[in-house]
Amino acid sequence: MATKVETKPDFAKRDALIEEIASRLGVRAERGRRFAELTSLRVGGAIDWVISPETETAAAELVYELEKANIAWRALGSGSNVLADDREHHYVILSLRDLKGEARFDGERVSISAGYSLPRLCVDAARQGLSGIEGLGGIPGTVGGALWMNAGAYGHEIGTVTESVRVARQGRVVEVPGSEVEWNYRHTSFREGELLLGATLRLHRDEPEKIKARMEEAKQKRLATQPHGARSAGCFFKNPPGSKVGTGKMIDEMGMKGTRRGGALVSPIHANFIVTEGEDAKASDALALAEEIRERVRREHGIELEYEVELWSAEENNSLESLERKENLVDSLDSKESE
Ligand SMILES: Cc1cc2nc3c(=O)[nH]c(=O)nc-3n(C[C@H](O)[C@H](O)[C@H](O)COP(=O)(O)OP(=O)(O)OC[C@H]3O[C@@H](n4cnc5c(N)ncnc54)[C@H](O)[C@@H]3O)c2cc1C
Repeated sequence: MATKVETKPDFAKRDALIEEIASRLGVRAERGRRFAELTSLRVGGAIDWVISPETETAAAELVYELEKANIAWRALGSGSNVLADDREHHYVILSLRDLKGEARFDGERVSISAGYSLPRLCVDAARQGLSGIEGLGGIPGTVGGALWMNAGAYGHEIGTVTESVRVARQGRVVEVPGSEVEWNYRHTSFREGELLLGATLRLHRDEPEKIKARMEEAKQKRLATQPHGARSAGCFFKNPPGSKVGTGKMIDEMGMKGTRRGGALVSPIHANFIVTEGEDAKASDALALAEEIRERVRREHGIELEYEVELWSAEENNSLESLERKENLVDSLDSKESE
């Protein structure tokens, strides 16, 4: 009988490379962080490295260096749409939280970096008398996270007003027209391995008081229908395409509000929100509850619910096997660039 030999990858060489790259580019690199500190669900395991560039140029150089060194990475904004599992995640988290800069207004346009807070941007735009994103004011993430999944609420979606997106390509900041991006329902054509650095939005003029009133209206609706101050990631599942009934209503009608698995429960206020409670809450609790919901919806409605929240598995991007994929991606970007 063949014996399976478990080999633990030796990360010492990789760690030395990360330290060298971070120090050469002058970016902060930390160890000992956990997803439980960096995501709004407040669960999830240890992360090998968190690197936090402060400028778009440094971020573009950083991912290029990581890719050349075959080091797996993932971008993280405010972590308000991510459920990372409880295991050790052996890849680099490229945190965009420090990549904030200032919002630069020019007529009806505003340019912001990926780490800029979306709620703050909505307030800034309203003050300038610029309309088009006031429905997004209650989405607790960064501009980069919103662009990545085409965040939307109350009649507004970020993709609709995005004139261009700045992305990292071969160590440089490259501007991609918004019209070349596919903006779908909570999904875009951006691919894993692409780092979004910032964007220019094109808004339109309206009276600041009217914009503020619409923002206030959206806020009140949110407060009336969603748990406030709870540890959640917003809606857990997308609404099924073509279904007349929204996912929240469907889960509510199955009587699942308040259902608890360990430290996770279906919010008693909004059934499409899974919230976590207590110090012992685990990502596995939230995932078990989510899978139970999916199973019941499948059985009782014949519908396959799709996750809106991103599930991050420690295995998926776990260094070695993903490096090959990243290498292919760099190759394909290289050939695209030289076209
Ligand atoms: C209470 C609450 C209410 C919410 N309401 C809404 C809502 O009404 N509408 C809605 O659309 N969403 C909603 N959300 C979900 C979430 O806030 C949005 O998806 C938000 O846009 C995520 O931004 P983030 O910075 O937190 O992204 P993260 O959660 O950090 O990341 C999400 C994904 O984007 C990728 N990403 C982030 N930044 C970058 C970057 N710069 N480059 C490349 N990839 C990147 C990450 O790798 C990840 O795949 C809600 C969440 C909560 C907690």
